[in-house]
Amino acid sequence: MAVETLTRETAVESSQLSHHERDLFEVAVEQFEIAADVLGLDDGMRRVLSCCQRELTVNFPVEMDDGSVQVFTGHRVQHNTGPGPTKGGIRYHQNVTLAEVKALAMWMTWKCAVVGLPFGGAKGGVQVNPKLLSRTELQNLTRRYTTEIQPMIGQNKDIPAPDVNTNPQVMAWLMDTYSMNVGYSVPGVTTGKPLVLGGSEGRNEATGRGCVFAVEQAAKTLGMDLTGSRTVVQGFGNAGAVAARLMAELGSKVVAVSDSRGGTHNPNGLDLAAVAAHKARTGSVSGFREGEDVANDDLLLLDCDVLIPAALEGQITGENATRITARIIAEAANGPTLPEADTILYDRGVFVLPDIFANAGGVTVSYFEWVQDLQAFPWTEQEVNQRLRQIMTRAYEAVHETSQKYKVHMRTAALARGIARVAELNELRGIYP
Ligand code: NAD
Repeated sequence: MAVETLTRETAVESSQLSHHERDLFEVAVEQFEIAADVLGLDDGMRRVLSCCQRELTVNFPVEMDDGSVQVFTGHRVQHNTGPGPTKGGIRYHQNVTLAEVKALAMWMTWKCAVVGLPFGGAKGGVQVNPKLLSRTELQNLTRRYTTEIQPMIGQNKDIPAPDVNTNPQVMAWLMDTYSMNVGYSVPGVTTGKPLVLGGSEGRNEATGRGCVFAVEQAAKTLGMDLTGSRTVVQGFGNAGAVAARLMAELGSKVVAVSDSRGGTHNPNGLDLAAVAAHKARTGSVSGFREGEDVANDDLLLLDCDVLIPAALEGQITGENATRITARIIAEAANGPTLPEADTILYDRGVFVLPDIFANAGGVTVSYFEWVQDLQAFPWTEQEVNQRLRQIMTRAYEAVHETSQKYKVHMRTAALARGIARVAELNELRGIYP
């Protein structure tokens, strides 16, 4: 079977690697230093937290369908084990580098800390274009990579999850391989599994749902009524389509949505079920009969109150930030806003809910999945959603308070909040020996 049918829609994925010329880990460290300055973090702790604790590179063979042998390179990085076991996805992409995996692992540490999860950050990746593999090759690659990184992972050590180009099926193979290697089933070794294998209710919707919980809190702060507000969503995929639907359920008019091929706009509000059906039929939201096509660059500038970037990184730039009309930007995507745009938006009074907070619903429900697996006791979707709301609301209050205290925008506040927590618990644990 061709792999296209197996992987989730991933137009987003290739661009995620677009800034590879720059060492992404340097970017992550720069961001860390800014927040560390705000906190007045001491030099020793800066040294500890600005590097990754464990980095593993593996080169491993896979026998291909034609009988040839290919060697693939993969990584697994744990940024900091101070908070507890580490957590982070595994991505399959031809441009994966160790620097990228390290940056993503560091960001996972801050993300988990912002929402108060008992995890340090980790990330994994294999340099491969999975779309060129058959299902058998993909399974073999996953099983061998899992075996190679097995010394690092485990339900009490480091718990992977899906990321770019990996999905519940890949997690099922990973879980099975780990379980076969130890001789008994260990569902808690990974999250993002299919429901029947110990996945969690509500996981698929968690990122979009958490993002909308964040918007609700921001609207309260701004004294803004979401009923009758207008929302624009860039990226009608997993995170974006759910966020759009939930905004509509709150009474907001979703006036535009887009995907990699373009967008559709209707100032009176789109019928999202009809848009989804159109996309299922044609492969894109563009060309939707009850909307006007809008180019991807123009979508971000449409008149709206809430803008949810849920596609790619680097979308909101110094150039378009001056012309964005939204009052709230909720970053369902990772890294959609460039640093120069942050300052412009802050000065213009646009309220940005930063990615490490706004899309933390995904890892939060992954945490719930892990807890359910450890207890062998599944929760209802209602329980999952209610606990997610509680965590997102508390985290919002904490980040907002930090932003007021240090007079910084919400991104620096979220980073500072996460870093302060990780620094505190590393300080309390001390240095061994
Ligand atoms: P996805 O592949 O399901 O959806 C991405 C969507 O973006 C697709 O509809 C794609 O067509 C669209 N897109 C691609 N290029 C575009 C462009 N130029 N303009 C407009 N739309 C474009 O991916 P996803 O899981 O929804 O992830 C989206 C973002 O959210 C990523 O940045 C991801 O890292 C982040 N995120 C996702 C999760 C999760 O649980 N899914 C968790 C945390 C963060």
